[in-house]
Amino acid sequence: MQRSTWRTWSGTVGCAPAQLLRPTGEDEIVQAVRAAAGSGLTVRAAGTGHSFNRLATTPGVLLDLTSYTGVVAVDRAAGEVTVRAGTRIGTLCETLDRQGLALENIGTLADQTVAGALSTGNHGTGLAHQPLSGQVTRVRLATADGEVRDIGPGDDPDLWASVRTALGTLGVLTTVTLRCVPQFNLRHQLRSEPLDALLERFTDWAGQSEHPSLNWLPWTDQVSLRSVDRTDEPPTPRAPLRRYATTLDEVRCGLTGQAGRAGGASTVPWLTRHLGGLWPDAPYTDASHRVFTFPQPVKFLAMEHALPLGRTAEALRALRPVLRRLGAYSPYSVLVRVGAGDDLPLSPAYGRATGYLNLTVPRTAGQIEILRAAEHVLREFEARPHWGKAHTATAEVLAPRYPRWKDFQRIRALLDPAGVFSNEYADNVLGPVTAVAPAGAAR
Ligand SMILES: Cc1cc2nc3c(=O)[nH]c(=O)nc-3n(C[C@H](O)[C@H](O)[C@H](O)COP(=O)(O)OP(=O)(O)OC[C@H]3O[C@@H](n4cnc5c(N)ncnc54)[C@H](O)[C@@H]3O)c2cc1C
Repeated sequence: MQRSTWRTWSGTVGCAPAQLLRPTGEDEIVQAVRAAAGSGLTVRAAGTGHSFNRLATTPGVLLDLTSYTGVVAVDRAAGEVTVRAGTRIGTLCETLDRQGLALENIGTLADQTVAGALSTGNHGTGLAHQPLSGQVTRVRLATADGEVRDIGPGDDPDLWASVRTALGTLGVLTTVTLRCVPQFNLRHQLRSEPLDALLERFTDWAGQSEHPSLNWLPWTDQVSLRSVDRTDEPPTPRAPLRRYATTLDEVRCGLTGQAGRAGGASTVPWLTRHLGGLWPDAPYTDASHRVFTFPQPVKFLAMEHALPLGRTAEALRALRPVLRRLGAYSPYSVLVRVGAGDDLPLSPAYGRATGYLNLTVPRTAGQIEILRAAEHVLREFEARPHWGKAHTATAEVLAPRYPRWKDFQRIRALLDPAGVFSNEYADNVLGPVTAVAPAGAAR
């Protein structure tokens, strides 16, 4: 019998699991975990497959959670919403919006699942905002022993901190409870500035907007600065269409990538200059979730590293000559975002205000060299790779970058001593499950 196959959104990674299941209830998830553990198969949960690496793949049982969706409860008094793990962030935001509520900060992608995003340290931008995990107040987790644990801030602090960014290695998240706030509008503004001037005042710039980001095409000396801030203004007429400007920009990048394939990657700057500037960039206001996210239909590959905020400008300065020397340019700009630090053992934002540096390339072989070269540079800046994006780091490289690494390993060994929720990729980036160390000995 032919095995079912599963592929990531970018299409560059896939697997043929022994069983591909699409549970629609928590009881089905628990049954699947029990059955797999009982027959010696490993289990991985998958969301919409928006990770760019092999994190969600398995030769064992793949639980595709995209049919396990929907809001379970909204507690207006507590300001909390509980959702099933496979709910897409965009769907959650639209449901909240209809009730006059919103999430306080999210990344750019509406299509990924809440649990998938949480599991890889997903983040938006803003120095006052932690990654998505900072908005989580409770989770339910189906564990390797066939039970479901309800986990919140009153539990073992290492467990509560570990479960909110766990790469799917502690079990299957079944529901997630997040803080929500009254619905709000955001004003979106763009302007341009010389790169060198911006780098001189990088940390000041990072604090000047609630949700700042910058885009830089490495063959130019200008950056495009995006400020996104709360406003009492009503939505601008036709505002919902404005977010498609960024979508169109990605379509242009996709087309440029295809053309660059034929004409050589050195033609990318020329093509970008001639195809660019077609979309209006006047300020606009809209509901928060429509400003944070935009439709992203064009497939690509991305790598992102979390750096100490204070070293981000230095890293950009170091990247510039390396990317220029390569001579092969990506049509996608380098994206820089910022965020508050947190205290989760596997959070790339652990313990420090963070600058996130993202490089995107078309899925063509030569372009991957750009990511490799950039990764080589960023490693010198205490960088921690995004768990869901492309990178080549192994546990050996990563462990010294995470001060609470052993706290996570202790929880992993306690919850999943037999490695039911491991796969080759997780073992590569985390190491195999190790013997349980006593609490406290880990720090
Ligand atoms: C177009 C695009 C835009 C993006 N934008 C951003 C961004 O703005 N900010 C950012 O930080 N990242 C961004 N990412 C990365 C993305 O957030 C992560 O890769 C995220 O993990 C994808 O969620 P998913 O539902 O697709 O999860 P998958 O890729 O399917 O799975 C990711 C991980 O989560 C685990 N997992 C999934 N469901 C569960 C569950 N129920 N229980 C336990 N573990 C589970 C899987 O086992 C796997 O380890 C983007 C990616 C793409 C492709």
